[in-house]
Amino acid sequence: MRAAVIDKPFSIELHEVRPPVIMSANEVKIQVNVTGICGSEIHAYHGTHPFRIPPVISGHELAGEVVEIGSEVKSVSVGERVTVEPHYGCKVCSACQTGNYNICHEKRVLGTQEWVGSFGEYIVVPEDTIVKLPDNVSFEQGALIEPLAVGVHAVRKSGVGKGDKVAILGAGPIGLGLLLAAQYAGADTIFITDALDYNLEIAKKLGVNSFINTTEEDAVCRILEETDGEGVDVVFIAVGIESVLNDSLKMVKRGGKVSEVALFERQPQIDISYIQNKEIQLIGSNMYVREDFEIAKEAIADNFFDTSLLISKVVPVEEVKKAIKIVDEKLENVIKILLKF
Ligand SMILES: [Zn+2]
Ligand SMILES: [Zn+2]
Repeated sequence: MRAAVIDKPFSIELHEVRPPVIMSANEVKIQVNVTGICGSEIHAYHGTHPFRIPPVISGHELAGEVVEIGSEVKSVSVGERVTVEPHYGCKVCSACQTGNYNICHEKRVLGTQEWVGSFGEYIVVPEDTIVKLPDNVSFEQGALIEPLAVGVHAVRKSGVGKGDKVAILGAGPIGLGLLLAAQYAGADTIFITDALDYNLEIAKKLGVNSFINTTEEDAVCRILEETDGEGVDVVFIAVGIESVLNDSLKMVKRGGKVSEVALFERQPQIDISYIQNKEIQLIGSNMYVREDFEIAKEAIADNFFDTSLLISKVVPVEEVKKAIKIVDEKLENVIKILLKF
């Protein structure tokens, strides 16, 4: 099969490799139709991702068709259009037992050395990770369920509700997903920041109230000004930059919440006294669980999550090298690039 392999840091090549095979009765083989390039793939490409370590066939945002099922698989059949929740837990630890398998310490994740990801044309996954696509959801939209579920999970964990004021720091794919999820949860006022006008334009089209280009304006000043000096109820960190993390502590209201969703390539230094002084709750958010996936899927099917603004390009997998470069070096204005097999 064709597979885009991150051979070593800063090298991704299309190779012909042996496809994965069904090894146990509960597994399902999927022919990948499209797969998204995620920020985590860029971290893997840099050789800085904690568990997507080269040489690796990365990829975990996908949609495709079931081509083979194990002998005990009952819930899905050959020919069905599906996506995959690309991780599963050990099922026995306390995190798994309480439904929080996303933080299982022995969690397996698609697109690692131990589990061939969707940058390969075929993947093999356990039956219970399969999520069927509704008829009115295209493969391209289906591949967006995963990145949007990240936002849904963070918003759910932070308890955003009707009338809340929210700031989202970073308007890339994760930030825009947080925006959609915060709107879905009923947030009233939403601020979003980014250094790129293009990303802010997309946020504007998605209906954000206030957007701030951080190269032109101080986000902390502006948000405090527009909230009568109080700050916002919840701040989401959607870009792994030290100064952004420190800004979040200044713009959150006293007793408010900061949700950390981003991956940091370097360890940030923060002024921790803000957390104590303002009684800030710092909440981590790691991927998602099934409920988040279902919410994202339904919101796409109901056209509440408009994915057309998020899918910037669909390119043949043969162009993976160029596509990774575009995302990594920001050579073009893109939110999400999908690779098509
Ligand atoms: Zn992703
Ligand atoms: Zn576990």
